[in-house]
Amino acid sequence: MADETELETVDVVAVAPHPDDLEILCGGTLAKLVHQGYRVGIIDLTSGEPTPRGSLAKRKQEAETARQILGVHVRVNLDLPNRILMDGPENRYALATAFRKMKPKIVIAAFGRTPAGSPDHYQGGLIAEAARFHSQLTKWNERFDGTDPYRVPHLVYVPFPSDAEVRTWPGTFVIDISDTIEQKLAAVQAYDSQFDGDRFAKVRHYLTSANGFTGGRCGFLYGELFVLPTPVGGDDLVRVVTGGKGTFAPVQLPGRDHLPLQ
Ligand SMILES: [Zn+2]
Repeated sequence: MADETELETVDVVAVAPHPDDLEILCGGTLAKLVHQGYRVGIIDLTSGEPTPRGSLAKRKQEAETARQILGVHVRVNLDLPNRILMDGPENRYALATAFRKMKPKIVIAAFGRTPAGSPDHYQGGLIAEAARFHSQLTKWNERFDGTDPYRVPHLVYVPFPSDAEVRTWPGTFVIDISDTIEQKLAAVQAYDSQFDGDRFAKVRHYLTSANGFTGGRCGFLYGELFVLPTPVGGDDLVRVVTGGKGTFAPVQLPGRDHLPLQ
């Protein structure tokens, strides 16, 4: 375990290989969870360094700035090897140990193949799945820093943009981030070693377009996509169909009045 010996418990923890991955993939949802009163954590598997314009100290400071912008309560870095992150026993143990200490009810795992990007992304997803399983195992406490078994009740995937596999699984759903999109963009902009000058303008254009499209499909100004490996379940058809609102008011698509929908 990196610099944290006593990790605080959280309701939701999100996991990804590099500081900045989660801001890009689900920063709006993490900020929203905080607004909704949940305790939220982020686990970065690696430092994300080296990169062409970054440094360890700079990246660490950027990650802390982004944490503060999102209002996330806990952020820990496991310091696993960047660029050559691989699914394997020791890395699984490190993450499972964090799960045992933080006791999240929900783990959000960044997942998916990024063929033109870092292979760490796919490996990180595999590590998260395995660590969630390992976290609950008995008679192996010595492998997990002497912690007791803890079963993570729910695992949710947040797909990398270029991934085509996870997003075809049966349980896709979209969280409305219309009220936290600016927090998300500010958190991404905090990584100016990665997105300086024109680069951030392009990332901003990409994120507002992608989140606009994703949200617009559900009648939101901006949204982030999540995936379950199973269909989305529920015990109240009205709440499921209305996106949890529990009212029969029709979904208000932005600009719908101007669309030739008949
Ligand atoms: Zn990354």
